[in-house]
Amino acid sequence: MLKVLTAISLLAISWTGVSAQKKGYTISINNTGTTIEQKTKEKLTAAFYNVYPWFASADGYRTKRDVIVKFSATETAGIKAKAGEIIINENWLKGKSRNKIEKQLREAFITNWSVFSSQKKKGYKLTFISKDPQLDPVVQQKLIDTYFEVYPTLVKTYNRKSIHDVLFVVDTAYKAVAEASGNRILFSAGYLKAHSTDIDVVTHETMHIVQGYGYSAGPVWLTEGIADYVRYTYGVDNVGSKWSLPAFNTNQSYKNSYRITARFFTWLEQHVKSGLIASLDQELRAHQYTEQSWVNLTGKSIDQLWVDYAKNPDEIQLKYSDKRAETGN
Ligand SMILES: [Zn+2]
Repeated sequence: MLKVLTAISLLAISWTGVSAQKKGYTISINNTGTTIEQKTKEKLTAAFYNVYPWFASADGYRTKRDVIVKFSATETAGIKAKAGEIIINENWLKGKSRNKIEKQLREAFITNWSVFSSQKKKGYKLTFISKDPQLDPVVQQKLIDTYFEVYPTLVKTYNRKSIHDVLFVVDTAYKAVAEASGNRILFSAGYLKAHSTDIDVVTHETMHIVQGYGYSAGPVWLTEGIADYVRYTYGVDNVGSKWSLPAFNTNQSYKNSYRITARFFTWLEQHVKSGLIASLDQELRAHQYTEQSWVNLTGKSIDQLWVDYAKNPDEIQLKYSDKRAETGN
């Protein structure tokens, strides 16, 4: 799946003494009964804006945007923080630098997640967050390994300008399968639990990052068809997840999207033009794609191409990636 979010461009900073608003996030510092100085509040506010937007965007789409700061003399960790609320030990805060406050605040937010890890390999970075304490560590490792195995290939093959810094979030509150927006991929914890072999969800979703078409570049069936074509072509274990391209039948249309469209694209690559999908992907990214693109690239309209496919759909060579075959088990 693909999700396009509107960029947050609101940048109104307004001080009302104890409350500040910036980038759509509000911090309200309730310092009644404390001796917190204005300078300390400013340091805290600056640290907040360096940490909270990052935390909130990783934590979920509906994470609270208004945060209340309270003080407690019994807060032993110095800072305790969750979505919408920060509790600080006033004595801890006194004389702390902005850097120190920021570091402690970041650590306090990270403790809300069951897993937080960050790793780099050959110029590619992956930050991995799980909000599910039950996430199988084997599945976690497979998701990470698949990113480092597949994503650099997709970037090199389709779009070298793609971001090299990706965020995976496994969320228990998210009930669909997975979706990509910006550099973030959200995975459903429930889906991963029920379909622990479906590791090439990573291939499909990271292709959405590579696609990065933005608004109204082309129809959704085309975007999703390309992502599944890429999963078929570059996936690491489609056999292991029993994922395959469904056989043709006359009720289908190329607009069915996903695997039906992906099979058609595979057929086109084999019979009409090798490299066609990569060319379409480029046109979509450049916002130059129209229905005429098919004619320009193949000499035929998409409907004519589908008619050709429907006449001869079984003349296709399909080979699925298989981890077991690779390791010889
Ligand atoms: Zn998708």
